[in-house]
Amino acid sequence: MSIRAVVWDVDDTLFDYTTADRAGMRAHLAAEGLLDAYESVEQALARWRAVTDSQWARFAAGEVSFEEQRRDRVRVFLGRELTDAEAEAWFARYLGRYEAAWALFPDVLPVLDALAASHRHAVLSNSSLHVQDRKLRVLGVHDRFEAVLCAAELGVSKPEAGAFLAACEALDLPPHRVAYVGDHPEIDWRGAADAGLVSVWIDRNGARTWGDVPAGPHRIGSLAELPAILGSDTRFGAPSTFR
Ligand SMILES: [Mg+2]
Repeated sequence: MSIRAVVWDVDDTLFDYTTADRAGMRAHLAAEGLLDAYESVEQALARWRAVTDSQWARFAAGEVSFEEQRRDRVRVFLGRELTDAEAEAWFARYLGRYEAAWALFPDVLPVLDALAASHRHAVLSNSSLHVQDRKLRVLGVHDRFEAVLCAAELGVSKPEAGAFLAACEALDLPPHRVAYVGDHPEIDWRGAADAGLVSVWIDRNGARTWGDVPAGPHRIGSLAELPAILGSDTRFGAPSTFR
């Protein structure tokens, strides 16, 4: 018996969200002539993130539609009345600049290639399918995953066990035969471990102080370390047949 599948987080695990978010919004604010209204790019980004979080929470709670939360993010961020068409046009210009900044981390394609024949792959994200399906397609890796599951459609979010168990169910595998790889020590690492998966924390920045995840085989600084972990899981005997 061995680990048969890897379920992946997306943002800041496969996709360099932090860099893209910053570069995309910086380019957008500059193009829209909005940077002068802020003391720094960081201040503008912090305000956009705060508005995004509050409006996304309304969508997650079912108070507004996906399209409405986008329009309202623009209206609240700009602090003025806009028609639906104006808000949508602003958001579309933002998305174009944001997507131009999208990139995978450099260790992603090598590890997906290395594990393509030996393991099945799926995605579990706390975002929505609207967002993550498109992101995986733009990044050119959508067809690497046999299932893409998102909290908005599942109705349950990480770190709740139900989210991880839904991914295992989609793969028709028991949790102990599935590895979960994510960047957040509580939402990802602890949640997946509590649900019974083989939980791996990708800690690219090293020694972040969140939580008390022990250093060791299930806390890695690069995805290049993942194949060794998956191949060395010998709790049930040496890895033998795959698929
Ligand atoms: Mg993440």
